[in-house]
Parts: sequence; structure tokens; C-alpha cells
Amino acid sequence: STFQDLGLNEDLLKGIADLGFETPSEVQEKAIPILLNQETDLVALAQTGTGKTAAFGFPMLQKIDVDSRTTQGLILSPTRELCLQIANEMKAYGKYLKGLNVVAIYGGSSITDQAREVKRGAQIIVATPGRMKDMINRRLVDITKIQYSVLDEADEMLNMGFKEDITDILAGTPEDKNTWLFSATMPKEVASIARDFMNSPQEITV
Ligand code: AMP
Repeated sequence: STFQDLGLNEDLLKGIADLGFETPSEVQEKAIPILLNQETDLVALAQTGTGKTAAFGFPMLQKIDVDSRTTQGLILSPTRELCLQIANEMKAYGKYLKGLNVVAIYGGSSITDQAREVKRGAQIIVATPGRMKDMINRRLVDITKIQYSVLDEADEMLNMGFKEDITDILAGTPEDKNTWLFSATMPKEVASIARDFMNSPQEITV
């Protein structure tokens, strides 16, 4: 199939063409139609390098309202490097979405600068759990309008001890949001997050 077959809109298709992506990868073929057409939670078992960033990124970009400046999408990721990488990919995918603001927030860098960027109006935040929790506690971000949350590399985040930060963050987001969990492995800690914080998630494996 093609990206067009999967239901992506013209603005995203233009961004995808600029990046030189020709055909959807397996995780993209499986996840994108589900996430675009249904308001559902999702558990995806997928390794890095499979194209999973676009598998959750394209649907999130298509579903958010770029005319609004509220934060509607939250992507939690284990490291600063991954946050920056995901944020840069999201900006590239959404190159033709006028008004899109994607902000990366992570530890070890100025919280004031990151807060200023968020305040300008970030529809999507890509964050490490520790810094995200800190910014929520200091009321520097508003997570009450989040509609889509992604737990990327969930197994890694739990290995790194972020369970409490993640559960505290999710507890402050709307009950009716959708959560999309991506993980390379499914140890019992990841399964328990899925059980406790997700509603009848659809499941895909690649
Ligand atoms: P990820 O698994 O999301 O880290 O993606 C791995 C790499 O594959 C990244 O450099 C992406 O830009 C690239 N990529 C993702 N999807 C596609 C695709 N459908 N065709 C070609 N390259 C892709």
C-alpha cells in the first residue's frame, strides 16, 4: 500500500515525499489506519528502526488542531537524545502544517528556556518523564487538554526507573484521551502499565 492508501492528508503526504519515504513500513501499515480512524488505545510491540516514530507521529499530526495553541499531544521518551530525534522527525513530517509547534523538553538543559518555548504554544510536547513531571509540578505546562499520549520505548523508560513519573503524568491528563504504547519487549511491568492506564487497547506486533 501507499501512504495515501493509509488515509494521510495532502499536507502530510507532501512532507513524507520531501523526506523520500516511498512505502510504509510494516508497523506504519498496521498502526496508521487504526490510529487515524479510531479513537482507541494501542499497544504496539516494535523495535527501534522499524519506523515506529512515523507510525504514531503521522496520526498524531493529522489529528491535532494546529489552529489551537493548547498542548494536545504528549510523547514520553526515555532519553534527551531520543526526545530531540523524535521532535525533529515530527517537525519534518509536519513541515507543511502551518502553525505547528513541536517542543522537546528534557533534563540537563535550561527549564526556563523550555518553559518559554512551551508558552509560545506547543501543540505537541516530546519529553523525558522526569523533566516533564518537574514542569507539571511548577505549572509550566498544561496537560489538561492532552488528547493523545505516546509512551515510546516503554520498556526502556521503566528500566530507567520512570514508572512513578509516568503514572503521575498520566494521572493529570484527561480520562478520555488515547494512549499509544510502543515497546520492543513486553515484560510484566509494561503489561501492568497497559492494564492500569489503558482502555481495551488494540494490539499489533511487528
Ligand atoms: P524509527 O524506527 O522511527 O526510529 O525510524 C527509523 C528510520 O527510518 C528513521 O531514520 C526514519 O526517518 C526512517 N523511516 C521511517 N519510516 C520510513 C519509510 N516508510 N520509508 C523510509 N524510511 C523510513
